[in-house]
Amino acid sequence: MNASILITGGAGYIGSHMVLAAASAGFTPVILDDFSTGHMDAITQGVAVSGNIADRALLRSILAEHSPACIMHFAAKSLVAESVEKPELYWKNNVEDAAILMEAAAEAKIPFIFSSTAAVYGMPEYTPMDEAHPTAPINPYGETKLAAERKLEEYRLSHGLNYGILRYFNAAGAAPGGVIGERHEPETHLIPLAIRAAMHGTEMKIFGDDYDTQDGTCLRDYIHVLDLCDAHLRLYNYIQTLRPSQPASERIFNLGTGTGFSVREVIETTAKITGKTIHAITHPRRAGDPPALVANGSRAKNILGWKPKHSDLATIIEDAFRFHQNERIS
Ligand code: UDP
Repeated sequence: MNASILITGGAGYIGSHMVLAAASAGFTPVILDDFSTGHMDAITQGVAVSGNIADRALLRSILAEHSPACIMHFAAKSLVAESVEKPELYWKNNVEDAAILMEAAAEAKIPFIFSSTAAVYGMPEYTPMDEAHPTAPINPYGETKLAAERKLEEYRLSHGLNYGILRYFNAAGAAPGGVIGERHEPETHLIPLAIRAAMHGTEMKIFGDDYDTQDGTCLRDYIHVLDLCDAHLRLYNYIQTLRPSQPASERIFNLGTGTGFSVREVIETTAKITGKTIHAITHPRRAGDPPALVANGSRAKNILGWKPKHSDLATIIEDAFRFHQNERIS
């Protein structure tokens, strides 16, 4: 029988792609999702369980039934603006509930892979940012992700939990089949909004064009969701080689390409790929947006042997566009 991987948030954007990647790598995906933001029809493989990561009895029964080789934890709240409005929701979901899942992993001696974010760094002190960059989040989303990272380290020290952390820069794109993709409600991310503006002829907003960047708009490091999933499988293999005494600094990896694209460049590339004119109007800066977030991803490349294969901007937008076209048809 195939080994299984427990994928929390497997009905969400990145989690649903991880389900496909885990199945392709020969694992049976076991999905735990409460469907608060995930979509049942995003689950294309594996065994799905509807429930919450903080349900201890449910966790015990899933772990006993499937004995997963690893837990990959994607179930979290991830919108910066919402986190500012509802910090308590973010502390509950991303820290308190996540700690219950970590505790279950620690007790059952199951390795744990955690989806973290560049938001843990806050305002860049230098760029590109490596893992040693100071962590000083500027919003509750980043604060809660950093707090969850620290919990993992506590469980390593107290229970010998074997874990790894991936700090994503800007996740984007979709599996080329066009069946699963990014579907947040409300959508706040640049690439899906640019595609929607192109497809529907609606206006979109550029949040600030007076930053100290080449064209005045913010720079971001976009990374294809397929490359993120590949990094998870590599990290799974890598953490098997770690000793419990190896600290957080050896368990954390940035995932980014090292190249930043401006908001205007993303909009122009989207217009080219979709063959449409995009009406983009400059608005004031969005609160909490750093001017540039660009990763130094050398650690992941050198230690995990990870090399982004799908993350050029055109491929990201083409794959995302295919998904949005299918979404309109279905
Ligand atoms: N952005 C924009 N218009 C939009 C959505 C986003 O100008 O409708 C900008 C946003 O201010 C940021 C960049 O695009 O500079 C990427 O934002 P996104 O929300 O996609 O990702 P984030 O970097 O916030 O995680």
